[in-house]
Amino acid sequence: YQAKSGGESVATYDSTRDAASTDQLALLAELREALQTDDQLVLVLQPAVDLATGAPTGVEALIRWRHPRRGLLSPADFIRAVENSDQLGSFTRYVLDKALAVAAGWACEGLDIPISVNISARSLLDPRLPTEIAEALCRHQVPAGRLVLEITETVVMSELEVIDQVLSALRAMGVQLAVDDFGTGFSSLSFLARVAVDELKVDRSFVLRMGESPEAAAIVRYTVGMAHELGLRVVAEGVETAAQRSALTELGCTAAQGYHFFKPMPADKIAAVLNSLARQTPTNVLPLRADG
Ligand code: C2E
Ligand code: MG
Ligand code: MG
Ligand code: MG
Repeated sequence: YQAKSGGESVATYDSTRDAASTDQLALLAELREALQTDDQLVLVLQPAVDLATGAPTGVEALIRWRHPRRGLLSPADFIRAVENSDQLGSFTRYVLDKALAVAAGWACEGLDIPISVNISARSLLDPRLPTEIAEALCRHQVPAGRLVLEITETVVMSELEVIDQVLSALRAMGVQLAVDDFGTGFSSLSFLARVAVDELKVDRSFVLRMGESPEAAAIVRYTVGMAHELGLRVVAEGVETAAQRSALTELGCTAAQGYHFFKPMPADKIAAVLNSLARQTPTNVLPLRADG
């Protein structure tokens, strides 16, 4: 697979040589079919909440593949294969389209909440992406500012030159950018210095170890402090316990996401949950739990 940008070959992958290649090729053929149907690739949605008020600050869309024979597949089972294939473009368009359809539904209910979509860094190598996103926003009547693209920065750094233009075009449109899994990449800080972003997502691994590890706690504290100094939003990922929640509040973190608040839920459940959260008063705060 050759990723082309302005006619120039920027990267070459040969996935056909590794041992698992036969199965990967089968999986990719099945993905091609799944992308034609409407029921195999589904989004589940997980709200992030304001730690002080319990109000929803955003909702992240996470892909699941209800495979007719392999069962329920999580992104870890197939994202890598998709990223190294010629189907990444169709896959990215599919996810964005589904996510924006969900967000358009909220707008009808008067909910003004951004939707976050995970974007493979390799998608940012496609110069057509900004136009495609502009068209999708227009089709669904969703304002650009209500879309947040989550990027995991490790992959991005190596090809930053190439994606600079794509990211600038997206920003010019008003689309928001978030750095996902912040702190796990080798180049988190240089990425921040180079790309204007709106949000940092503190990686789950630091939240998990915060209680026992002074290093993890320091990383969370400094990430939160730096985000505030730079005027960025910061969201802690993977919050599972009340202890983690109060530790985060003490460290100055204002928003969080995780099983302690909500597990990812089906699209048809999310509007009701957001409506009830939006009606919450600060005296009637979290945790609220969703089923499933
Ligand atoms: P991510 O963007 O960092 O998403 C957070 C992951 O943590 C999700 O896993 C979510 O279900 C899980 N999670 C949320 N709260 C908790 C918690 O309290 N405890 C624990 N243990 N886990 C929690 P998921 O859905 O399996 O997604 C894994 C990764 O796959 C995502 O990491 C993201 O990088 C990628 N991904 C998901 N959906 C898409 C997509 O549509 N497109 C692309 N390109 N990548 C996606
Ligand atoms: Mg994410
Ligand atoms: Mg993450
Ligand atoms: Mg991740």
